[in-house]
Amino acid sequence: MRKKPMTKTRDELKAAVAERIEQHKETFIRLVKDILHDPETGFREFSTSRRVQRRLEEFGIAHQAGIALTGIKGVLKGAAPGPTVALFGELDGGRVPGHLHANPKTGAAHACGHNAQIGMALGACVGLQAPGVLEALSGNVALCILPAEELIEVEHRMALKDEGKLEFFSGKQEFIRLGALDDVDMVMMAHVRGSAEGAFLLGGSSNCHVAKQVEFYGRQAHAAGNPHQGINALSAASVAQHAMHAIRETFKDGDITRIHWIVTRGGDELNAIPPQVNMEVRVRGRTPEIVAEWDRKVNRCLRAGALAVGGKVRIRTFPGYLPLINNPDLLSLFRSNAERFVAPGETVTYPSDYVRGGSEDLGDVSYIKPCIHPYTRGAVGWNHSDDFDIVDYDQAVVTPAKVFAMTVIDLLADGAAGAREVLGRFQPKMTKEQYLAFQRAQAMDRVFDEASGE
Ligand SMILES: [Zn+2]
Ligand SMILES: [Zn+2]
Repeated sequence: MRKKPMTKTRDELKAAVAERIEQHKETFIRLVKDILHDPETGFREFSTSRRVQRRLEEFGIAHQAGIALTGIKGVLKGAAPGPTVALFGELDGGRVPGHLHANPKTGAAHACGHNAQIGMALGACVGLQAPGVLEALSGNVALCILPAEELIEVEHRMALKDEGKLEFFSGKQEFIRLGALDDVDMVMMAHVRGSAEGAFLLGGSSNCHVAKQVEFYGRQAHAAGNPHQGINALSAASVAQHAMHAIRETFKDGDITRIHWIVTRGGDELNAIPPQVNMEVRVRGRTPEIVAEWDRKVNRCLRAGALAVGGKVRIRTFPGYLPLINNPDLLSLFRSNAERFVAPGETVTYPSDYVRGGSEDLGDVSYIKPCIHPYTRGAVGWNHSDDFDIVDYDQAVVTPAKVFAMTVIDLLADGAAGAREVLGRFQPKMTKEQYLAFQRAQAMDRVFDEASGE
């Protein structure tokens, strides 16, 4: 009689993945630090992508690269067929020129800890390669390392769109559009933050938004010699900014409305009336309906600027991010594994109606599939600030890797009963097709010529 292979208990499987992650942790931490010192912004992360691909090759993880320009998708197959659980990491840094580890030429910096996400997602996958683990799983693990979570540098993304290289301006939106998530059933990822509240922050939601590129047009003339012949685009922008400040007074408590902007082209030479001024504007709120309402009001403010000087304004609105829905079943599995590593009270769960002011493109995925997005401690300073710095690599990379790997075991062991339970209870807000139609309907490109004042 053939000897039946010894099947490991769930706790033995979890111990095996934790041990393998511990064995290789210096490799993940090195990768995270290497990326920290070579930051790149969204859809430009070619060097970061190559760095990650080399590590996947080292660990024998089969993968595709070049998805949405720089994205990567690897896969680990369990012994039996079943659902696919994806672990996400993000490739991009932001633009924080004053950051300790900023690229001095581009101003790019990892001030949001995306480099740590890559370490934790890869770490979890390498842990799951421990002997006997994949053999005990029914289903697959997808490792998605995605571009461009930060919706910045809109002009660069508009140029890529014009070249036909992308349609949407974020990595996850593009992964959805390209079908790269069609075979993914659920998703887990985490951000690192400085936190006094707890080692792991779970639950809550994130804000919804739209992105805008605004161009004011006037007429160039000598600023001192014949200013009466000019139309000052900077003055138009200035009036528009005052108008947007004026409507802040009518924000409703609890809507988490935010309107903020930067000027990306403020004039060309001091001796000339600026003929063109460009701005990036973001409109945020708790729901897509609130965003749509405030987007209309912002358009009014922008037109008011052009009207005041008798100029033109071109307003382009691009689909932004949807509010994040944290899946309660995935959250409770994550939480039970997180509690193995941290003291009681260090795992804090927020109610689902708690909305953070910032936004995540995982929100878009969460409208279609069960997702979770916890935060882990491990950094000091605020995200997107000069002083954001990962100081505890065990808490920022190694422990989340273990928690994710153990949660995968809870989902895919025992014939994937855990994952099937999550899927059985999940009600998507939208299908992929409804999502794409919804986002495409948000796009606008209009020129308002206010020269006549009528
Ligand atoms: Zn981020
Ligand atoms: Zn960020």
